[in-house]
Amino acid sequence: MPQQVQDLEEKWGVFWCKNCEIPILAETCPLCNKKAKHISGDRRPVSPTERHMLEHLLQQPLPTFLFARHNIFYFGEGALLRLTLKDGRLGVAQDWLHKLNDISPDVFTEQYRLTQWNRCLSANANTIANLEQEAINFVEKAAGSYPDRARFVSFSGGKDSALVAVLVNKALGPTPLLFSDTTIEYPSTYAYITKFTEYLGVKVFWQKPQQPFLALCEVLDPPSRIMRWCCTVCKSQPINTFYNTLDCQVLNFDGIRRSESSRRAQYPRVYQVPKYAREVTARPILNWPTFAVWAYIQANGLPSNALYDLGFSRVGCMYCPSNDGYNEYLTRLYFPDSYSKWNQYLLDWAVREGKPDPENYVKCGYWKARNVRRGKIYVVERTESCVTKREYSYEFSRPLTEDVVEFLRPFGKIRMFAINGKTCFTVGNQNPFLISGIIGDTEISISFAVQGKDEELIKRRVERQIEKYLNCVGCGGCLGVCPVGAISITQRRFAINDGKCTRCGKCTTRTYIERGCVAIGYRGSQRAIKRIGDKE
Ligand code: SF4
Ligand code: SF4
Ligand code: SF4
Ligand SMILES: [Zn+2]
Repeated sequence: MPQQVQDLEEKWGVFWCKNCEIPILAETCPLCNKKAKHISGDRRPVSPTERHMLEHLLQQPLPTFLFARHNIFYFGEGALLRLTLKDGRLGVAQDWLHKLNDISPDVFTEQYRLTQWNRCLSANANTIANLEQEAINFVEKAAGSYPDRARFVSFSGGKDSALVAVLVNKALGPTPLLFSDTTIEYPSTYAYITKFTEYLGVKVFWQKPQQPFLALCEVLDPPSRIMRWCCTVCKSQPINTFYNTLDCQVLNFDGIRRSESSRRAQYPRVYQVPKYAREVTARPILNWPTFAVWAYIQANGLPSNALYDLGFSRVGCMYCPSNDGYNEYLTRLYFPDSYSKWNQYLLDWAVREGKPDPENYVKCGYWKARNVRRGKIYVVERTESCVTKREYSYEFSRPLTEDVVEFLRPFGKIRMFAINGKTCFTVGNQNPFLISGIIGDTEISISFAVQGKDEELIKRRVERQIEKYLNCVGCGGCLGVCPVGAISITQRRFAINDGKCTRCGKCTTRTYIERGCVAIGYRGSQRAIKRIGDKE
């Protein structure tokens, strides 16, 4: 590993050379050889467009070579101002603008910005080249470790995935991109994807969820920062549906970086993500600071999403509950129609939910912070046979439809047969257990031949599948759990391909996605089985 890359990993962050007045990725400035000061946290550059917007807000000119981290803006190594968003209005929480009183008027000119950027790029050129080489070596090694897998780059329309696409294409030649269109992307992101793929000369596989985001909000409620069903349903599911059309496994490169969040700081560089059973994920720029990404983009003249010019620090979904106040403010400023549409949706929803002050609830963003899972509606009752204690019956409040069989396929071979004009089904053998029922009737039973330690586990899994059947909204969130791609959704109906299913049981656990099913995890009111001892 090149020494500078190692240094970066050991001493995380960005440094400031006071002498040259530039950020650098090394402790000693390569231009003047002076020791630089470690500045806490990472930095992103502030574009002229964003700076003009801030100048307008503050009614005061700002230096042109500006950086930001979250809602704090920096000139040099020190902070200049901290923004806040209160009741939907952008304000200044704290300012240190008096520091600007005695500085040279030159720093307010465009020439100063250009000079400093050029100086900055030349000071960091070696480190960036080393980081690039290390990432390329990593990509080649990952590809060598998984030679039989189809290779893709996850592309979100953001700077990190664009950089990874460039690096992977340098390392491996043309490698297609995978874009999961959540249906609530910013218009600039759509435009950028076309521009970037033309620039790179690669194909993009453009995937969409089974149902648009807003339609899913109707059944699952708007997502919150804690209840983020949309990542599974609108992002992962389209990709998993695509993977299921391939006849091989996948090696996917993504642009996740440790400096993005404390959770991501723990991520490994090569990983099997549970909700993508057919994919191994490799992360070439996991250790890159934000500043290094921007320095690379500037130095190589890569096109970037126009959202960054406007001041967005994060290019994600327009209605994301994780958007901070500043991103939300910018959305309202630059995309007023889309913003109003979502705001109105949230207001109507808050009214339907009976919130005491819906307007305030939405304006203050309380919908983003909620973690309420509503109660259960018991629509199935479980009874136990008194004689053997190893037979259980499930009495449904509605007649069973054929869909129930699909959810029971993981437990064994299905037999369907007619008796008195009714379609009966059994799953598995008498030994170790047999599930049986009649389509159109209201009962399913399960009987165990031998009492063993697995009995409880099997019963729990059967019950989970029954609850999935009761709650399924056809979101496809569980598609990626299956390692052989046996699960599919057609017109919102869940199905398991019997020829493909190996009965591994993975999809019947609650391990790989929230409670084993997005609808069970997040659906407003959950339809459930009432067991003895359950309260109403
Ligand atoms: S980025 Fe936000 S809105 Fe988009 S899918 Fe993820 S959590 Fe949902
Ligand atoms: S079983 Fe659950 S996760 Fe799977 S499609 Fe139905 S609702 Fe979605
Ligand atoms: S996860 Fe396993 S049990 Fe479930 S459908 Fe796939 S192969 Fe079958
Ligand atoms: Zn210097």
